[in-house]
Amino acid sequence: MNAISSGGHVLALSGGVGGAKLAAGLAAVIPPERLTIAVNTGDDFEHLGLTVCPDIDSVVYAMAGLNDRQRGWGVVDESWRMMEQLRSLGEADWFNLGDRDLAMHIARSWRLRAGESLSAVTARLTNQLGIAHRVVPMSDAPVRTQVETDAGWLDFQHYFVREQCRPVVKAICFSGTPGAGPSAGLAEALARPDLAAVVLCPSNPFLSVDPILAVDGVRQALLSLKVPRIAVSPLIGGKALKGPLSKMLDELGFEGSNTAIAAHYGALISHLVIDRTDEDGALALRASGLQVTLAETLMKSSEDQARLARDVLTAAGVE
Ligand code: GDP
Ligand code: CA
Repeated sequence: MNAISSGGHVLALSGGVGGAKLAAGLAAVIPPERLTIAVNTGDDFEHLGLTVCPDIDSVVYAMAGLNDRQRGWGVVDESWRMMEQLRSLGEADWFNLGDRDLAMHIARSWRLRAGESLSAVTARLTNQLGIAHRVVPMSDAPVRTQVETDAGWLDFQHYFVREQCRPVVKAICFSGTPGAGPSAGLAEALARPDLAAVVLCPSNPFLSVDPILAVDGVRQALLSLKVPRIAVSPLIGGKALKGPLSKMLDELGFEGSNTAIAAHYGALISHLVIDRTDEDGALALRASGLQVTLAETLMKSSEDQARLARDVLTAAGVE
């Protein structure tokens, strides 16, 4: 596939699995020097002495072609011997760590502990895996998403994995913000004179994109940009493909439609890409002043990812 060769820099904001699909598509059509992918770290947590960064890993695995498409998360050709042994030692087994995946957490954790920044560690690991594009954490300071539920405040992974998103969500906060500045890579991308567009990947707006927006100065920087800020909706046919988004929209009092996504992002976005099956809602969205593009937003293959990436760039006027 030919790479798009001219026309300025693109900044993509991504969460994990949903965002990673479009991030990988963008990387397939934009050369490395023209793309920065800034990834949510609000899901990061300390587990069994390791620092786990699930969204960075989802993006890295997708871009390195190491992601397991069948399971929908984690590493392909995975095995689980370590988990079996861990269980037999009586340790916590609610968070699955595959044998291959574990290498990532070990490689990251010891270097962080030796004093390297998360940005430096991420650059090293992506480089080692042959990823030429810039994948940067949203911040080098720890930000930890917490979810207020009918079962009280829960650390993000306790809500998401241990409790499998069952508790009813009332509110979300990002501990560490304010006070966490953008990583050098994100700050640089936001300040680039040749920045041509910002893409909000089809990640969960509340859990994956909002933490990035909560990083000091990011929301204001985006609002002051004169370039297209284009979000791809994570809803298809009014429903999230996976994860708690649909349930959360309901619990937080939003309707399950692109109107809610548009209302949530408000003035942060100038463009919204929605699925063709949701065409009915386009008129009302356009009346609210948004530029709306219909596209096939379901990404099952690398071809789908690259096609949607091209549609997004075209809608944003980036060549
Ligand atoms: P997580 O961090 O791994 O939970 O993933 P994200 O927050 O990045 O993405 C989760 C969202 O991605 C869900 O709300 C899904 O609806 C959405 N999603 C997953 N696959 C696709 C896809 O192929 N197309 C679109 N439009 N959305 C998707
Ligand atoms: Ca995530």
